[in-house]
Amino acid sequence: PERIVILGAGHAAAQAIDTLRRRGHRGSIVLVGDEPHLPYQRPPLSKKYLAGTHERSRLLIRQARYYSERAIETRLGRRALQIDRRTQRARLDDGSDLAYDALLIATGSRARALTVPGADLDGVRYLRTMADVDSLRTGMESARRIVIIGGGYIGLEVAATCRQRGLAVTVLETQDRVMKRVVSEETSAAFTAEHLRNGVNIICGAGSLEIASHAGTQQVRAVVCDGCEHEADIVLIGVGAAAAQELACDAGLECDNGIVVDLHGRTSDASIYAAGDCTSHPSARYGGYVRLESVDNAFEQATTAALNMLGEPAEHDSVPWFWSEQFDLKLTITGLASGHDTVVVRGDPTSRCFSVCYLRGNELLAVESVGNSKDAIAARRLIAARSHLEPHHLANPACGLDRLPA
Ligand code: FAD
Repeated sequence: PERIVILGAGHAAAQAIDTLRRRGHRGSIVLVGDEPHLPYQRPPLSKKYLAGTHERSRLLIRQARYYSERAIETRLGRRALQIDRRTQRARLDDGSDLAYDALLIATGSRARALTVPGADLDGVRYLRTMADVDSLRTGMESARRIVIIGGGYIGLEVAATCRQRGLAVTVLETQDRVMKRVVSEETSAAFTAEHLRNGVNIICGAGSLEIASHAGTQQVRAVVCDGCEHEADIVLIGVGAAAAQELACDAGLECDNGIVVDLHGRTSDASIYAAGDCTSHPSARYGGYVRLESVDNAFEQATTAALNMLGEPAEHDSVPWFWSEQFDLKLTITGLASGHDTVVVRGDPTSRCFSVCYLRGNELLAVESVGNSKDAIAARRLIAARSHLEPHHLANPACGLDRLPA
């Protein structure tokens, strides 16, 4: 393809650009992003950038010079509104049209909105972009109390950061334990204990929710949960994210909880690819289709899509990998646990250093490691090799995962 257009300027876009130029693409590349920034790293947003210990310039995945030296045309602060597949053009919100020979959709995901009474009050916030964090930080300067709705990894990371900055923090989670969708009971318990130890108030099984304002104003005052009032100067909603797939759906591309792509990153239109959070992709390793929200997945899928755009056949089949940090505790999830029939806990779950292993017929599918980076690294290799392991070997924490007979 002579002209490549990339819609969305995040992790996947940055990686696709790098692969395209490294592999010798000499044609034009246009990068369109609705945020006013070059692609930046999102993970620090709820961690060091929110804490104020990470400079804004350090967020950029690559500095401006990198793009100019590689003749990347950037259209930042511009939103793509429509894809016309017949004429192979993308329409932007300034009325301009970009012709493409190959298109990459890398629009990521968006924070899921919560529809409870008061969700539109001043002081109710979401966290997805640098702008979200900048305004949250400004709000935090005069705030004493924050209530976080949602005990997923973003809600909990924000809880930890706010607590470290001296705010009183309450987390309201509707499930019976935090991070239930992604981790085991042992891991939920370890992170809950870490938060409680640091003075975060966590309430699970939260039922009916309502956000109340100061009388006669639009300013948030409290979150009312099951009749109990939790006072708040700021309310942060962290109830998950949804694929930013509208452009693709409107253009008639197949979408189903994400833009459906094949193992090559190609959509149902052969000249349109998609990568990152916005996609639903087949998993050769685990079967079925998955939509993943992780930097690693964006990176790997974008590499694959870029190679295929250039006619170099490549398949996306890497072991999924994700991390979170809350206070001093680090969580790494390697692989996908769905379909497991056996769970083995390695080490003492109250020790702040343990792993939970998921197997199917003795094949290692996934490992959650808490404070145990050695296991996390070894797990990736073992899962990639489709290793079959004896549960009683795994259960012995004295025997390093890297030394287990595969
Ligand atoms: P994004 O990085 O979201 O980029 C997509 C871009 O496209 C955005 O700038 C969006 O505004 C733009 N866009 C959307 N629609 C349009 C349009 N129509 N026109 C133009 N531009 C558009 N992952 C981890 O692995 N570890 C972590 O610790 C971790 N922490 C996280 C913390 C936070 C607060 C958040 C929000 C995410 C975190 N993630 C983490 C997830 C990770 O950041 C995402 O998986 C990753 O950013 C996905 O990359 P992407 O390129 O698919 O999408």
